[in-house]
Amino acid sequence: MEFAAIVVAGGAGLRAGGGTPKQWRPLCGKPLALWSLEALLAHGARPLVLVAPADQLATAKALCAGLEGVFIVAGGRERMDSVREGLQAIAGSSAAVEAVLIHDAARPLLKSGHISALLDALGDADGALPALAIADTLKRAHAGGAVHGTADRTGLFRAQTPQAFRWSVLRAAFAVWPSGETPTDDAQVVERHGGRVVLIPGDPALMKATYPEDFAMLESLASGARLIRSGMGFDTHRFGPGDGVWLCGVHIPYEQSLIGHSDADAGLHALTDALLGAIGEGDIGDHFPPTDPQWRGASSDLFLVHAADLVRGRGGRIVNVDVTLICERPKIKPYRQAMRARLASLLDLPLDRVSVKATTTEGLGFTGREEGLAAQALATVETPG
Ligand code: MG
Repeated sequence: MEFAAIVVAGGAGLRAGGGTPKQWRPLCGKPLALWSLEALLAHGARPLVLVAPADQLATAKALCAGLEGVFIVAGGRERMDSVREGLQAIAGSSAAVEAVLIHDAARPLLKSGHISALLDALGDADGALPALAIADTLKRAHAGGAVHGTADRTGLFRAQTPQAFRWSVLRAAFAVWPSGETPTDDAQVVERHGGRVVLIPGDPALMKATYPEDFAMLESLASGARLIRSGMGFDTHRFGPGDGVWLCGVHIPYEQSLIGHSDADAGLHALTDALLGAIGEGDIGDHFPPTDPQWRGASSDLFLVHAADLVRGRGGRIVNVDVTLICERPKIKPYRQAMRARLASLLDLPLDRVSVKATTTEGLGFTGREEGLAAQALATVETPG
């Protein structure tokens, strides 16, 4: 079935805290509205309309920069005004639309299965929406908290979105809705018009982000669909003349230095490669070619921070990192805690998710002969599935 979709992100959304309107706040690193937009696009919604507050169109545009086929329109004062703007954008497009899904941007965990079930339900209905039975007993109480009744919950359901409608019925219903009234959802408009609206089983994962604590709940629900990925890195640098070495972002006074194009911090280089490896982004040389003079003598902090930014840019987060430094000298142990603290600060991680270890090779090989030192690292990241 050819369907269009409207994602309503028109509200101020400030009850959710964080200072930013909730539709743009990140959930597992990805702005809330983007979750639904991607799900709808992937399922073939054409056109797909994002209704944003009139003073936030630039934010909406930036959000959709990487998406093809999203129309952005300015919302109105009430949610219904915003939906009307979305409907007008669909009417003005050349697409042959049979059905329309209207969805709240504040419900990010929309899955392909939800969309299919709604479109299927339109086979013998004018409208369909996911709804959940009410498990809790419903009380009536005065503002002060004194109970004065228990409501019968038989036949009551909690309505979620997306709500799906036959396009012709929806247009006709909105056209005659009285201008002074505000429906609490879109299905109500079609119901009032005499349309047949059916419920399909809702999904707790379609919960709406309203309050700050909802984000924590959504993050834990979202992580069920996330991938844990690991990457490893290895690096070596040769000792040469100097008076100290950089390792894991910490300077250690020593009778030699490490030789390299940048500051030769093998610990940071191995860890950078581990992070890049975890997200399949090549190696440090791809991002910071040693032939490029701008990295001569560079502090390797920036290589690591760049890799961490790439992880976050994919909506991922770093779970933990573990570095092993391999050398006879200098002695690492006195600097281990400073190294952990430095890495934790660069990666914005709690200390207990950062490990730095040291070992020798019992006098064997190039590290045993103290010609150079080596570092290996493991990074675990979590990314959207
Ligand atoms: Mg290196």
